[in-house]
Amino acid sequence: MYNVIFLGAPGSGKGTQGEVVAKELKLAHMATGDLFRKAIERGDELGDTVKSYMERGELVPDEITISVVLKHLAGLKDVSGIILDGFPRSLRQAEALDEALVKQGEGIGRVIYINVPEDELVRRLSGRWVCRSCQSPYQCGCAEVAEGKCSRCQGELYQRPDDTPETVKERLKVYFSKTAPLIEYYRSKGKLSEIDGMAEITEVTKRIISAIKCGK
Ligand code: ADP
Repeated sequence: MYNVIFLGAPGSGKGTQGEVVAKELKLAHMATGDLFRKAIERGDELGDTVKSYMERGELVPDEITISVVLKHLAGLKDVSGIILDGFPRSLRQAEALDEALVKQGEGIGRVIYINVPEDELVRRLSGRWVCRSCQSPYQCGCAEVAEGKCSRCQGELYQRPDDTPETVKERLKVYFSKTAPLIEYYRSKGKLSEIDGMAEITEVTKRIISAIKCGK
């Protein structure tokens, strides 16, 4: 299996790119944030547990996240590879993933780090509206946001409860302290491809696909 990790701050475009690249390369796509949001919608035990962490912009505790992800990975069938979007987000998660993959005789193919300056991240997150059905993001000021409707699937647009200025600040703080160290972790293993996330969306996609295909 070809395993690709998408690493980057909230608002760097991991979700948008993850979807497109997965489709293009026929890979599965797993976004931990989406798995948790679905659990909250279902209102099950996992949803109840993760809700307060997400609302505060904190990471869901490692044990919970690792167990959810490993269960998800174990349930995959007939896939040639997967894009992990939003996982790992801490050193402990990265080590747990390495260990689980080694046990299956697998490893990480490539880590795509999408680099975006912090002021742009704040701008993107605080003006972001998301489709409730297909998760497509839109920026304040566009026609879809004015109508409140997704142009891809006609779903209703909403602002994520963790996209408020306070929570955005906390999420970025958590990203820089807990997740950013993974950049060096994977760079030192020779796995990292750094992509400029300020380029045009389609250009970013092209560069990511080329990094995955060429393995550099
Ligand atoms: P973003 O990357 O924009 O923050 P996500 O949808 O990936 O959005 O994540 C939303 C929230 O879900 C995070 O702030 C965190 O609370 C939780 N979460 C997602 N992935 C993880 C993870 N790997 N470990 C812990 N918490 C996570």
